Order: sequence, then structure tokens, then C-alpha cells
Amino acid sequence: MEKILISGCLLGLPVRYDNKIQPVENKYIQKWHKEGRFIIVCPEVKGGLPTPRPPAEIMGGSGEDVLSGNACIHNSAGGDVTQAFITGAQAALDLVQRFHIRMAILKEKSPSCGSHFIYDGTFSRRLIPGLGVTAALLIRNGVSVFSEKEIGTAFEFFGRI
Ligand code: SF4
Repeated sequence: MEKILISGCLLGLPVRYDNKIQPVENKYIQKWHKEGRFIIVCPEVKGGLPTPRPPAEIMGGSGEDVLSGNACIHNSAGGDVTQAFITGAQAALDLVQRFHIRMAILKEKSPSCGSHFIYDGTFSRRLIPGLGVTAALLIRNGVSVFSEKEIGTAFEFFGRI
């Protein structure tokens, strides 16, 4: 069966930095879930970070820049959590490769999972265009990544693969 990678928080798992439960309500998500298509991942937890944890933002670039060694990730307490984010992204890629996954649905705006927007590194809730670290690594490896705002588009795409 063709599998789909999904951010754990979108299914309501308690993995978010703030420990809030925020499942996405969507008929296609429910259908895929019932069919057993989801491979669930939280890259930040996979990278060894606890829940709850201080919020983190990419400083001076995007997920691509982090992967290239040209940007880092700090949390709001000033700690450098770059390596945990890279480890988590690699864990997500390992799942993709193990299950031959071609499509992922990832949570928008996250420094790991964001696929269009991320916060700008100033902890002032300002968004900039850019990819999170996991989204960047998956796209680099040929995975089609959609956010929770694009599930209808993802459903159409999934029907063609
Ligand atoms: Fe984990 Fe990604 Fe959800 Fe953040 S957005 S809690 S890294 S699954």
C-alpha cells in the first residue's frame, strides 16, 4: 500500500512544543487514517527534544540553509538546537526511504515541518517564506510535500501517483 508521511501533531498527538493537542479535521485525513496509510513522525521528538519544549526558530535563513551549514536553530531560551533538528529530519527521511514514500503532509510554519512559511528568527511571530529543515530534506530527496492547508491538492496529487 502506498504510504503517506504525516506530522504527528496534525493527528492530534501531544508532540507540539507547547503540548497542545491540535488535530486537523479533514475528510481526506480521516479516510487515509482509516485506510492505514499514514506513517507518523514528529521530527523534533525524533531528534531527542522533549515535550513541552521552548519554541525554536531558524536564525538567518531557511531549512535549506540549515542543511547546508549556513544557518542555525535557536530556542527562545537561547539554546542551539540545530543538531536535534537535523537528526529529526534524517529520521523522517529514513522512514520515507524505508516505506518508499512519495508524499508528505507536514504542519505549516514549523521550523521542522513548514513547507511555505517559517518564523523569521526573531521570536516576534513574523513569518517569512521558507522551508523547515525536515521539509527541505524531504523535498531535496524527491518527496512532494503539502501543508495542512493543501489537503485537497494533496488528495488530487495522490490520485495521480
Ligand atoms: Fe513535531 Fe512537526 Fe508537529 Fe512540530 S510541526 S510538533 S516537529 S510534527
